Amino acid sequence: MASLAYPHPDMPAPGETIEVAPGVRWLSMPLPFALDHINLWIVDDTIVDTGIGDEKTRALWEKILSHKQIKRVVLTHYHPDHAGNAAWLVQKFGAEFWTTQGEYLTAHAVRASSAGYTTEAVLEVFRKNGLPSERAATMGGRGNRYAALVPDFPLSYRRIIEGDRVKMGGHEWRAFIGHGHAPEHLSLYCEALNVVIAGDMLLSTISTNVSVWSIDPEGDPLRLFLESLKRYRELPEDVLVLPSHGKPFRGAHVRVGELESHHEKHFAKLLEALKGKSLSAGDLLGLLFRRPLDAHQTFFAMGEAIAHLHYLYYAGRLTRSNGADGIMRYAAS
Ligand SMILES: [Zn+2]
Repeated sequence: MASLAYPHPDMPAPGETIEVAPGVRWLSMPLPFALDHINLWIVDDTIVDTGIGDEKTRALWEKILSHKQIKRVVLTHYHPDHAGNAAWLVQKFGAEFWTTQGEYLTAHAVRASSAGYTTEAVLEVFRKNGLPSERAATMGGRGNRYAALVPDFPLSYRRIIEGDRVKMGGHEWRAFIGHGHAPEHLSLYCEALNVVIAGDMLLSTISTNVSVWSIDPEGDPLRLFLESLKRYRELPEDVLVLPSHGKPFRGAHVRVGELESHHEKHFAKLLEALKGKSLSAGDLLGLLFRRPLDAHQTFFAMGEAIAHLHYLYYAGRLTRSNGADGIMRYAAS
């Protein structure tokens, strides 16, 4: 397979579903971001991911589920576009709630702004990585946006771990865990249907956000992500990938290769720019992201720029030093 194939060319209309494999239905919910939709899945009596917790999304859910009985809600990861209606759906149907421990606990921590999950803590990491303070100032004061999008979250869950077999729609789906985008991102692969629910770990037209955040400011999430991505090569080449954004596709191995070279290109650009120069992540934003960035996009861009620099630093391909101004700068040795 040399390129990606999209067997379902049309997106589902709002409030409608499309069957993408026997018993597996695709629906799409609107998002108020540059990324304007999220894909969710219904497998028999199980919902996988839930959309943001607003009235518009809930009205669409009411329409889709009007004649359905739901017994379980599964969450791939804690991000608000996935987690927003988990509690609402669980309460509405008396359903069980299944996810990984990392995602479950992170959702609660972010909702509560605890454990360093605050905008201020993130901006402090960005400042230390060279984001100009004028720019940081436009990004503060938004309150807890996560809690606004995830107004409630279940108080108990059923834990899924690596290798678990989750029965959905009469088939077994094998759980495998990925890192780098979220702490313990859940993907589910069904051998009988040759389908994988990929969440945000393998997207067809955009690259998954991989960011350094405030609770692990010295982390190397890009190494974790690239290692996790390789697991998609263990699945059949023609597996139908159900991603959280964009259309279902075949060509997982090709896509893994494309994403690897996408990051390799970023690495090469950074190494080139840092030859004989010492620059911060903030200095390098324009090099990595050529389009103008609004406050929301700058959050992700800064996190990603730091992640790329950390990857190269921990791989021994860059040196770094903390300036008298408290800003970390990197150089190619
Ligand atoms: Zn996500």
